[in-house]
Amino acid sequence: MAKPIQVLFVSSEVEPFAKTGGLADVSAALVLTIYNLGLEVRIMLPRYGSIKNTPSRLHDMIRLQGMEVPVGDKIYKANVKSSFMFGTFTKVQVYLLDNAELFGRPGLYINPDTKRPYPDNDVRFIFFCRGVLEMLKKMGWQPDIIHCNDWHTGLLPAYLKTLYKNDKFYKKTKSVFTIHNMAYQGEFPRSTFAKTLLPPETEPLIMHHDKVNFLKAGLMYADVLTAVSEKYAEEIQTTEDYGCGLQEVVKKRSRHLHGIINGIDVEKWNPATDELIPQKYDIKTLDEKVENKIALLQKMKLPYKPKTPLISIVSRLADQKGFDLIGEALDKMMKMDIQFVVLGTGEKKYHQLLEKAAKKYPTKMAVALRFDEVLAHWIEAGSDMFLMPSRYEPCGLNQLYSMKYGTIPIVRATGGLDETVEQVHASKGTGTGFKFGPYTSAAMLEAIRKAVDVFADQETWRKIQRNAMLKDYSWEVSAKKYIKLYQKLLHV
Ligand code: ADP
Repeated sequence: MAKPIQVLFVSSEVEPFAKTGGLADVSAALVLTIYNLGLEVRIMLPRYGSIKNTPSRLHDMIRLQGMEVPVGDKIYKANVKSSFMFGTFTKVQVYLLDNAELFGRPGLYINPDTKRPYPDNDVRFIFFCRGVLEMLKKMGWQPDIIHCNDWHTGLLPAYLKTLYKNDKFYKKTKSVFTIHNMAYQGEFPRSTFAKTLLPPETEPLIMHHDKVNFLKAGLMYADVLTAVSEKYAEEIQTTEDYGCGLQEVVKKRSRHLHGIINGIDVEKWNPATDELIPQKYDIKTLDEKVENKIALLQKMKLPYKPKTPLISIVSRLADQKGFDLIGEALDKMMKMDIQFVVLGTGEKKYHQLLEKAAKKYPTKMAVALRFDEVLAHWIEAGSDMFLMPSRYEPCGLNQLYSMKYGTIPIVRATGGLDETVEQVHASKGTGTGFKFGPYTSAAMLEAIRKAVDVFADQETWRKIQRNAMLKDYSWEVSAKKYIKLYQKLLHV
């Protein structure tokens, strides 16, 4: 039997170890699925200080000790710790790159006290990329593919093509770089270039607008690029709004760019088996979903009104997610017969906006401004509608979770939201959600109004819920597309 393809998946976030957003869910679920499909895949992330607090299965065994990783004129000592990530029948090897000075901190990228990025994020992620390559050599494990994700890992393909180009160990190794979000680029002053220790001729390739740009390094040097939906793969080649200044770079590499939609972990996000929600249900017992609504409203201290739709949001509170539209539309939304729940954390201005609004409309609106995994499940199960008015959305996971839970998404037609949500036609009883095009509060309000109107006709609403619940966004289909890409890259 042929040897299985060996893959090292490198990501700055992996559930259940470290998470600020969808990247963590995607990393874990994709890797577990690829493993189930027969590849030898292992995963690597930094050993953040916060990980020790995670009630996960962290074994924390030391695998390598005292490895040396050069960054600028300094040599950092690194340990590699080893653990496992578990699926139902699966156990994937996890490596954690450990240096207490750089990563033994509570935040992943941002100092929770100052709410600012750590000033040495350049050093931290140079160390990470270089450390991964040094570790593999020390360990003698030679993956066929190193699959990198987002700016934190952008320098790794550049290292493979430069400093490690003539290294026999990496002769056959190919790199894949997945774009989860173009807006986060890892930009640092020109002085960072010297710290990378990359050869001088690479400088123009990784500089952008006079800044060292880690994302650009990944885009320029990886053998293959992927983006997390087909729509987003197209969008990021178009305008500044989508390409965030790197649209021409992406366009130049379009022949090597593939859009592959994310899936969801249906073991974790499934209303029929979800241990976190008050009342399990499925498509046949959809009437029982209301028990979750009653419980959620009680938890959020809102009155239960059977005929009033509950609209919810679970999100990072960032500009990307459309909170400026919500700010503009809030008073008009509150005039409708709806209730509104928001779970999120992020930018201070949105914390203030939402807190103020919840005080103003105490019987209609409630907010939880924190990160709360359990409440996120309660919200998916207990809400009637889920609002995602994103300015842009590479893939989006919550609309996929929502559909699975019969919670109807109201989304802006962009990126993965446009690709995965099918517009409702109430008279035909088709579609899975409500989409609006222009990025305006008026267009968003119009979509909310339509959803509220259809909700009043419970028979049609049930049809829409069933359509949504029947959609298959499990990882298997997408994971197979990644495997096809690996095979093509390796000519197997
Ligand atoms: P992004 O990666 O841009 O943040 P996604 O929709 O792809 O957006 O993924 C967001 C993930 O993070 C989802 O799993 C969502 O449930 C989760 N999430 C975001 N904010 C919170 C929060 N405050 N509490 C719990 N989960 C959250």
